[in-house]
Parts: sequence; structure tokens; C-alpha cells
Amino acid sequence: MQLQIKNLSKTYSNGVQALKDVDLTIPSGLFGLLGPNGAGKSTLMRTIATLQEPDTGSIFMDDLNVLTEKHKVRQVLGYLPQEFGTYSNVTAEELLHHIAVLKGITDKKIRRALTTRLLKQTNLYDVRNKKLGSFSGGMKQRFGVAQALIGSPKILIVDEPTAGLDPAERKRFLNMLSEIGEQVIVILSTHIVDDVEEICTSMSIIDKGTVKYTGKPYEAIELLKGKVWKKTITKREESQYIENYNVLSSRLSDGLVEIHICSENNPGVFEKTSPDLEDVYFAAIKNCLSIAN
Ligand code: ADP
Repeated sequence: MQLQIKNLSKTYSNGVQALKDVDLTIPSGLFGLLGPNGAGKSTLMRTIATLQEPDTGSIFMDDLNVLTEKHKVRQVLGYLPQEFGTYSNVTAEELLHHIAVLKGITDKKIRRALTTRLLKQTNLYDVRNKKLGSFSGGMKQRFGVAQALIGSPKILIVDEPTAGLDPAERKRFLNMLSEIGEQVIVILSTHIVDDVEEICTSMSIIDKGTVKYTGKPYEAIELLKGKVWKKTITKREESQYIENYNVLSSRLSDGLVEIHICSENNPGVFEKTSPDLEDVYFAAIKNCLSIAN
């Protein structure tokens, strides 16, 4: 299965153009939609999830027209929204059962087997009798995935799921998504470069409603090889460098600043460095390399 998005545009009533002629093919596996806040990620996710309409364009899930056959799409799609509220006074198992009933799984035996499987898959089985109000952020997000997987979706959309998780919970969450991604298309929207670097097989970088790059993370890094230079400077020198060079990023280390710049040739007293996905991300967003394809 693949998702084919063509010429998708959306302008909100306040005049903000959230998506500008977006063309995107999302293959099987784990797909990362990477972009800063306000890039248009949630607008795109909600549109794919049939929760809002674009102004123009089309989305096809193989032969299924997502924009006109919403009912069929919803049968094969699981969605974890950015803001996922749960009831706090019920247990994980109770709420999962309840959602399964709402999703039409009325046979008690089948429902029990399904909820047990999902609680185990999301590492929540041991805490299934705990109230959701006592869950940590990571546990709530994993519960969000469990409910999204009811009905065995072919596509799972998770919108900024790792924001606000501590490092251990984030790791656990990404491992779980990675396992799910072996059977289902997973679309992970995030502003965290490491999320994509760690688990995604393919990705897009989006900014201001425009897709800047689509491809495999390692191919994107290849494109920048030989073009990223680094230098360690003081904090006071930083603004001068930003003014004079194509600075991709600044990383603080031991009170000093390591800047990365993008240039075909050594622009002076810089040292060549191996690019990473963060360099790719900033290069794409700053349009300082024609790496869009
Ligand atoms: P992201 O998920 O990447 O942070 P969004 O899709 O939420 O981006 O937002 C893209 C742009 O559209 C932002 O400028 C945002 O303020 C604007 N926007 C999002 N939703 C609405 C809305 N319902 N009405 C008006 N503007 C919106």
C-alpha cells in the first residue's frame, strides 16, 4: 500500500496558507514528516485522517480516494491526534474495551483477546488495571496508540507523539512504533530530528506549507557530504558569523558554540565535518542547498 498526495493546498479563513501545493508519495514502512512548529504537519495529518478538507488536491490510498470515500478510509486508518485527552477515572483496560465497543467490536471474546493483545503490544498490560489519571505522558501516548490500533488499521498516523516525553519514555515509544511499522504504514509527524533519524525508513521535510525534501534519511545526508564545515567560536562571535556565512546550526558545548555552515568549498578557517540529519534539516529549511527533489 502507498499513499499518493497531489497538489494539496489549504488556506485557513484567517488567510494563513498552511499547505502549498503539496506533492508526496508515502511508501510502506515508517515515514517521518519533519518540520518546525507551524510548518503544516497537523493540517496534513488531519486531512489524511479525513478530519478536514483541503481547498484543492487529491489523496489516494492505493485506489481509494481519501477525500471522497471517507467512510472506507476510516475503516483502515488509525489516528493519534496531537492533543489526546483520556478519561482519568477509568482503567486502561476499561477504556480500551469501551472504545472497542464504539468501534463495533461487539463480540466479548474477540474484544477481550484484542484488548489483551493491544495492551501487551503497547507495554501496558502490567498497568491495565491502573486508572488513566495516574499514567505518565509516555504511558498515555502508548495508550493512544493502542486505541488507534483497534480495527487493525493499514495506516497509523501519529501527530507529534514524542513532544514532552522524557528520554526513556521517548525511546520506548519509538521502539514500539518501529515494531508496528513492520506491519502497518506509520506516519510520524515530529519537529524532533532524532525521532526521524532513529526509526524512519523514509521522510519528508516540510516548512511553511511546502515540502522541501522527500527521500531516505541516509540519502539526504549523502547529498550534503563534503559541503558541511564546522568551527568552534565564542558566543560573542556568533552573530558576526551568522551575518557573514551560511550558518546551518549552532550547538552549545562547554560554553563555546560549534557552528555548522554549508558551502561547496572551504570558506576560510573551517574544518570539514560529516553531515548529519540535523544539518540536512536546517539546509532544507534555509533553502541553502537545492536538495529538494
Ligand atoms: P504544525 O502541525 O506543523 O505545527 P499546523 O498544521 O498546526 O502546523 O499549522 C500550520 C499553520 O496553520 C500555522 O501557521 C497555524 O497557526 C495555522 N493554523 C492551523 N490550524 C488553524 C486553524 N484552524 N485556523 C487558522 N489557522 C490555523
